[in-house]
Amino acid sequence: MLDWDTLGREAVTLLSRYVQIDTTNPRGNEKNAAVFMGSLLKHEGIPYQIFESAPGRATLYARLRGDGSRRPVILLSHSDVVQADPQHWSVDPFGGVIKDGYIWGRGTLDMKNLGIAELVAFLAFHRSKFPLERDLILLVTADEETGGSMGAGWFVKNQPELVRDAEFLINESGKGRMENGTVVFAIDITEKTPCWLRLTATGEPGHGSRPKTNSSVNRLLRALNRVMAYEPPVRLTPPVEAYFKGTASLRKGLRRKQFSDIRASLENPEFLAELYQNSQYSALLRNTISITMLQGSSKINIIPQTAIAELDCRLLPGEDPDAFVEEIRHVVDDEGIRIDTLLSFGNTASPFNSPFTDAVRTVVSRYYPGAEVTPNVLSGFTDSHFFRELGIGCYGFMPFLLPDEDLRGIHGNDERISVENMSRGPKILYEVLERLCGK
Ligand SMILES: [Zn+2]
Repeated sequence: MLDWDTLGREAVTLLSRYVQIDTTNPRGNEKNAAVFMGSLLKHEGIPYQIFESAPGRATLYARLRGDGSRRPVILLSHSDVVQADPQHWSVDPFGGVIKDGYIWGRGTLDMKNLGIAELVAFLAFHRSKFPLERDLILLVTADEETGGSMGAGWFVKNQPELVRDAEFLINESGKGRMENGTVVFAIDITEKTPCWLRLTATGEPGHGSRPKTNSSVNRLLRALNRVMAYEPPVRLTPPVEAYFKGTASLRKGLRRKQFSDIRASLENPEFLAELYQNSQYSALLRNTISITMLQGSSKINIIPQTAIAELDCRLLPGEDPDAFVEEIRHVVDDEGIRIDTLLSFGNTASPFNSPFTDAVRTVVSRYYPGAEVTPNVLSGFTDSHFFRELGIGCYGFMPFLLPDEDLRGIHGNDERISVENMSRGPKILYEVLERLCGK
């Protein structure tokens, strides 16, 4: 029999140790994290493999065998973290400090917490000799924070046969929160995708004392003004429609009615204007464009030959990136400005109604009676899209109930997770997997 008190304490200690492995990306050095995870598997006699996409950039892969009657489930996490400036923290971000009922440090929410919960659940299945019908795959990748090309992207490209047969994948982001007094577990079923563009304007260079109307900088600024004035059209995609309908029950009065028939409600310009006030809703209803980088001359008195701007555009799931670039080309309306795509990929959605969601609903309602499980569409992106491209049903689900004030620590200061969450999370995840992988 599994002793979940001990396993819970183990999870807390392991997270503290994992945080102490500095995997700040860029650089990453995720091999140290893979070796750490590997040593824990080795201790239990579980075979694993470590793959290096480049020196120091490593992905760990391990598989527990089921009887093969159903297809595998992947437990995915990334081991890299974003930078932490110790000046703004009240503890050492890589100290793995445990105090005041919390485990503190970079990665305790994004996402060494789920990495450890997945590991502990994985070890628990090995120890309990539970009769799995599905293989369980543990995958700990590098480089998510800068786009995943050296981690999940590399792995899917170079070792696809190790994961291709999976039916489901569990990844970061979706989580439990309190909303108007109700516990709500949001499951990410898809996400917006980046379409990062570089605009390069060219013009005759010269001396700053003799202005040129059509200089590269002026052309670029005129184009950017057109981009700023442009409002991408509202488009209600099926997963976003599912999101509004699925969260309607959490709303009150008129809002509930409006959300449950969002398609009709969007015809009302007043309602649409109200939704636009909320940056989360507005991002789900259209493609977005943020002008984020600008570069002109490096000297004040030189008119440069080229001027560059970079645009962080995010597309709705299912959008065609090529068509969007054409749209931007039309808005820019200047043949002298080149548009290059720096990063872009297609994306699909995983069905919300699935055996995975059923398992989450059953287990979560045992811990939190009356809890709601809703679909969610992320406005950011994770590594899930690499696996959705293989046809795997990918779900963002973290078995933690996180207060809004704790969530501010993600990519911010004093990132931390409560000892209570970290002790209980692996057990919740284990029970979800038990339903998904058992008879
Ligand atoms: Zn993350």
